Amino acid sequence: MELIEAPSPNFDARRAPPDMIVLHYTGMQTGEAAIARLRDPDAKVSAHYVVEEDGRVFRLVPEERRAWHAGRSFWKGELDCNAVSIGVEIVNPGHEFGYRPFPDVQVEAVTALLHDIRTRWEVPDARIIGHSDIAPDRKEDPGELFPWKRLAEAGHGLWAEPAPAPGAPLGVGDEGPGVFTLQAGLTRLGYDSAPSGQYEAHTANIVTAFQRHWRPERFDGIADGETRARLMALLRLAADS
Ligand SMILES: [Zn+2]
Repeated sequence: MELIEAPSPNFDARRAPPDMIVLHYTGMQTGEAAIARLRDPDAKVSAHYVVEEDGRVFRLVPEERRAWHAGRSFWKGELDCNAVSIGVEIVNPGHEFGYRPFPDVQVEAVTALLHDIRTRWEVPDARIIGHSDIAPDRKEDPGELFPWKRLAEAGHGLWAEPAPAPGAPLGVGDEGPGVFTLQAGLTRLGYDSAPSGQYEAHTANIVTAFQRHWRPERFDGIADGETRARLMALLRLAADS
């Protein structure tokens, strides 16, 4: 695919081949400003790729190197997600500067880029995730407007829409085996959700991150029956992927 070279000095050595892809939004007023920052040695942040709203794709860091996009993070026990992932920044002002839908041409470019990356590296669908999945207490990107379902239909990432499931919602303050089972399921999917049986603020943040990704009609941190049914369906898919 056609790439625009825009090298960034912000990288170091990996310790393993990448087997994860982390999607972000840039969260700045313009794509140019975001690219400038990701190339600024003083900013000490970067990503492998930036995808503009018009579909142009910029390469900042070679895939063989460790870019600095994830920060403090956790997925499936991995604490250094930068070391094992490829970071893709998708231009969007984000929740701070006027969050807006991702244009079709941009989503198509992301899809083509993922296809391209996955011809070179072994990346399971269950390891194509958002920044908020790996840092749910501090991040909300790429957010609920990102079309994860469309991406999965194009062959990248997991998606499940099981039959509607009734069940009492669980939320902050609840405790017991239902909460434990929820936390255990979130842990199995990849989240940093050590089961305690207590639904505290951290659990609510993880449920919100899960919902932004897999149940975007509702992202309130309350694990209703539908949220839990989707989690269970995703776990079945993840086990096969
Ligand atoms: Zn991010």
